[in-house]
Amino acid sequence: MENEMVKDAISKLKEANIRITPQRYAVLEYLVEYHTHPTADEIYRALESRFPNMSVATVYNNLRMLTELGLVQEMKYGDASSRFDFSTHRHYHAICQNCGKIADFHYPSLDDVEIAAGRLTGFDIQDHRLEVYGICPECQEKM
Ligand SMILES: [Zn+2]
Ligand SMILES: [Zn+2]
Repeated sequence: MENEMVKDAISKLKEANIRITPQRYAVLEYLVEYHTHPTADEIYRALESRFPNMSVATVYNNLRMLTELGLVQEMKYGDASSRFDFSTHRHYHAICQNCGKIADFHYPSLDDVEIAAGRLTGFDIQDHRLEVYGICPECQEKM
């Protein structure tokens, strides 16, 4: 399943005539495999030992490119470093206020919000996002 996701992403890169470098592949694979919504820095640290010549800037550039292609979503939270999410399906985030862990959840009926918002405001609604905050199960257990 996860290999399929990497394969799909790779074929999209090929369609866009983007060269698949080993670093690029590794960044993509990391995002698919560890669905932790990592920052560029976290990815860099995880791959550093495999690619000693790779810089944080390389990781950033690859993430930008994947974001532009729509394979990855950049999550911006004010001043904090952006987090990156490999996602092809719309989903929402539950964020732990204690450890910062982010869990995905799907809730398709929220699509209705866009229709309602369009009706109420006259906007042509393009997108929405939602985050909920709380304490993750692991932190609940420790408390
Ligand atoms: Zn937690
Ligand atoms: Zn996510």
